[in-house]
Amino acid sequence: MTNEDGKLQQNKWKSGQVVSGYGTIPARTSEDIIGDSGLSLPFIPPVESNLNVSFEFFPPKTEKMEAQLWDSVAQLAPLSPEFVSVTYGAGGTTRERTHDAVIRIQKETGIPAAAHLTCVGSTKEEIDAIAQRYWDEGIRHIVALRGDPPEGSQKYVPHPGGYDYAADLVAGLKKIGDFDISVAGYPEVHPEALSAEADFDNVKRKVDAGANRIITQFFMEPEFFLRYRDKLAAAGITVPVVPGILPVNNFESVRKFSKMCNTYLPDWLELLFEGLDNQPKTRNLVAATVAAEQCRVLYRNGVQNFHFYTLNRAELALAICHMLGLRENAAKVVG
Ligand SMILES: Cc1cc2nc3c(=O)[nH]c(=O)nc-3n(C[C@H](O)[C@H](O)[C@H](O)COP(=O)(O)OP(=O)(O)OC[C@H]3O[C@@H](n4cnc5c(N)ncnc54)[C@H](O)[C@@H]3O)c2cc1C
Repeated sequence: MTNEDGKLQQNKWKSGQVVSGYGTIPARTSEDIIGDSGLSLPFIPPVESNLNVSFEFFPPKTEKMEAQLWDSVAQLAPLSPEFVSVTYGAGGTTRERTHDAVIRIQKETGIPAAAHLTCVGSTKEEIDAIAQRYWDEGIRHIVALRGDPPEGSQKYVPHPGGYDYAADLVAGLKKIGDFDISVAGYPEVHPEALSAEADFDNVKRKVDAGANRIITQFFMEPEFFLRYRDKLAAAGITVPVVPGILPVNNFESVRKFSKMCNTYLPDWLELLFEGLDNQPKTRNLVAATVAAEQCRVLYRNGVQNFHFYTLNRAELALAICHMLGLRENAAKVVG
C-alpha cells in the first residue's frame, strides 16, 4: 500500500506478539486490519483465476443429516471442485458411513471423492482391506491420517500390529495402489509434537513416503499458513500445500476446537462475533466475509488451492467461492 505522496506505507503493528507455530507474528488490532486490508485492490481475483477448491464433509448419522449432506453436495458440485472428501470418525467409528458417502458422491456427481482413513484402532491388515476395497471401487484419493485417540483415552497409543503414524500409513497405501494421497500439515504445529522441528520433519516424512498434497489444519491468521508454506518450499517440498479454511459460524465451537488443535484465535475475531449468539443470519454474513478476506490475502500471496471444512453446510463455502470468482461449472470470472 502507498500513501498520498506515493511512499510505501509502514505497517502499523501494535505492540504485543503472538507466538505460535514457526515464529511470532504481531498481534493485530482492528485498526491494523483496516489499514492493512488492501482496500484499493479489487476484491475478486483480477485475472482469469486458476483456483482449485475442494470441500470436506463428514458422514451423516441420521436421515436428517443425510438430507443435509446431499443438499450441500448438490449445491457445491456445480463449482467443479478438484475433489471432495469425507472424514473418518474417531477410531474408525464411521467406517461404513464414510465408505458409502464417498462411493455415492463420486458415482452421482462424477467429482473425484477422497476417503479419509486413520491408523487408530485397526491392524494393518484391516486398514489395507479398507484401502483395497476403495481401490477396487474406483476411489483413487485417500486423506491419510494418524487420527486422534478414541473418546475416553487421553494419549495416542499405536495399535499393536497397526500403522503407527500417518507416514507409515502413506507408505502402506502406496503398496496397495498408486493412490493420490493427501496428508495433514500444521502451520501452528501439532499439539502433541515434541517440537516444531520434529513436526516439520514428520510432514517431510509423509511426503517422502509418497503423499501428493498437504492439507493444513485450520488457522485464522493467514500469516501462519504463509510462513509454513514458505518453510516447506525452502525445504524443497514441492507438493501443493493447501490451506484448510474453516468459516467460523459458531464462535464458541471454534474456540473449543482451537484449544484442542492448538490454533490461535485473534481477539479481533472474538470482537466480530460479539453479541451475535442469537443472530444466525448476521453471524453467517460475518463468517463469510472473514473467510473470504482470509482467502483473498492468501490468493494475493500466490495461493491457488483452497480446502473448505464445510461441516456439511453449503452456503458459507458457496458464498466464499463466489467472492473468489468461482462460478458454476467452472466458468470463472474474468476481471
Ligand atoms: C485436513 C485434515 C483432515 C483430518 N481428517 C480427520 C479424519 O477424517 N478423522 C480423524 O479422526 N481425524 C482427522 N484429522 C485430525 C488428525 O487425525 C489429528 O490432527 C491427529 O492428531 C494427527 O493426525 P496426523 O495424520 O497429522 O498424524 P501424524 O502425521 O502421524 O502426526 C501426529 C503427531 O505425532 C508426531 N509423530 C509423527 N511420527 C512420529 C514418530 N515416529 N514418533 C513420535 N511422534 C511422531 C507428529 O509430530 C504429530 O505430533 C484431520 C486433520 C486435518 C488437518
